[in-house]
Order: sequence, then C-alpha cells, then structure tokens
Amino acid sequence: MSDNLAADRQALASLIDEASRVVVFTGAGISTECGIPDFRSPGGIWSQLKPIDFAEFMASTQVRQEAWRRKFKLDDEFADAKPGRGHKAIAHLIGTDKISHIVTQNIDNLHQASGVPRERIIELHGNSTYAQCLECTTRYELEWVRAQFEPEEQPPNCQKCGGVIKSATISFGQSMPQAEMARAHEATLEADLFLAIGSSLVVYPAAGFPSLAKQHGAKLVILNREPTRLDEIADLVIHADIGTILAPLGP
Ligand code: NAD
Repeated sequence: MSDNLAADRQALASLIDEASRVVVFTGAGISTECGIPDFRSPGGIWSQLKPIDFAEFMASTQVRQEAWRRKFKLDDEFADAKPGRGHKAIAHLIGTDKISHIVTQNIDNLHQASGVPRERIIELHGNSTYAQCLECTTRYELEWVRAQFEPEEQPPNCQKCGGVIKSATISFGQSMPQAEMARAHEATLEADLFLAIGSSLVVYPAAGFPSLAKQHGAKLVILNREPTRLDEIADLVIHADIGTILAPLGP
C-alpha cells in the first residue's frame, strides 16, 4: 500500500471519527466496480448512447419504444450487479449510526441491496428497478411492462388512468422529485461531515448539495479517481479508487 493511500484512509477515518452526523452523497462511481459503467469516465454509458430527454420521451411513441428497448437491454447486462466494497462500507457505517442519510444520484438500487433501510436513502434521480405512471404514480413492475412491450414493441399505458408509464427514474429535462429534494436539503444542513463519493459533481441540482453542506459549516470530503470542480473547497480530497479506500471501513 502506498504512503498516500494509507495517509488518505487515516485522514478519512479521523474525520468520520470526529463527526457526529455524516451524510454520504454518492454518484455512479461507487457502482463501477459492480460492473455498471458511469456516465462520464472514458467508455462510460454516455460515450456510447446519447441520453433520451424527458420532452422527447413524452412527445413520441418511437422514442418511448427506443427507451424501453434500451432499458431492457441494460437491465439484462446489469442483472447480476451486487453491492461493491463502497456500498458495504457505507452500509456498515449506517449500522453504527454514524451516517444519518445516503443522498444518491444513483438509480441502481445497490444501497438498498447492501442492507441499508429505505428511510435512510434519498434517491434524487429515482430508481430503475420499477416503473410508474407519470399521471397517477401507480407502480408497475418491470416484468409486467416487459411482457406487455415485447411482443409488438408497444409501450403500455397505465391500466388505471391511461397515463404514460416510465421507468421510475428522473430523465434529463424532467422535474426533480420535490419530497426527496427537501429531505436531502434538510439532511445536508444537519450534517457536520459530508462525503461526496464517485460523482463528477456536474449534474445540477444534485451537485449543489456538497457546496451547500460546506457553506453551512460541514467538513467536505471528495473521493473520486479524477479531479472535480469542487476539489478546491473540500477539506479532504482523495483521488483514488472508491472500493480500495472504503473497504477497511466496512464489516
Ligand atoms: P458521472 O458518470 O458523471 O461521474 C462518475 C464519477 O465517478 C467520475 O467523476 C469518475 O471519475 C468517478 N469514478 C468512477 N469509478 C470510480 C472508482 N472506481 N473510484 C473512484 N472514482 C470513480 O456520474 P454522476 O456524477 O453520478 O452523474 C451522472 C448521472 O448518471 C446521475 O444522475 C446518475 O443518476 C446517472 N447514472 C447512474 C448510474 C448508476 O445508478 N449506477 C450509472 C450511470 C449514470
């Protein structure tokens, strides 16, 4: 182990030790070791597929067909993804009551799969493991949507109100979920330590939470293998692999 790595781990462990209310903010980088590519690293999802924005999805049946086609293909690719070392370490710290909340941009359900209770997870961009009617919010399981869709590639509409059904994620151009934004805001203001892990910190409004925490007196740690635009305001910046750094904090 390099001296830097040991010093970084020690510095992180000390900050966590001294803190009484930690908020963890996670991005796609925590799930790359689980086999789910992020958006912005070389070879990331974005370099292969332009995201479909919300207005396009709503405006055209062809776009909705393409969205469901992509969704089921990606689901098949990532079906075996399991929580990684970072998820497990965070779940362990939640168990010791050090961490109050996980505010996540991720949609992959891996924090839940690592055993973290639902009420401790704030999903800013939704969850890709189910679908919802955009009108009446009725939940639909993906198996049902797939069974309706696949024979003739017809995107199903809501059985109750006829509304458009969409994966329960927030697309570019779609409104942010108000309740989750409010909970994340409150948790951030109450934190005395804010750990931003595996996010490029460029997707707003989610990326506003680390600076909000800092402005309200929390210490800010950024863990990312690449520099981010908020590195200069952080109290500790660790440029290293997430799993490698967090594993010793785990069970
Ligand atoms: P991003 O792709 O913009 O940034 C990921 C960051 O993680 C990059 O800066 C990269 O350097 C870093 N990173 C990747 N692997 C790492 C590792 N092993 N160790 C250390 N750093 C690592 O992701 P974002 O900031 O979360 O924003 C993208 C949006 O994409 C979010 O809104 C999210 O909803 C969505 N997204 C989610 C998933 C997921 O749920 N797993 C995957 C891709 C995209």
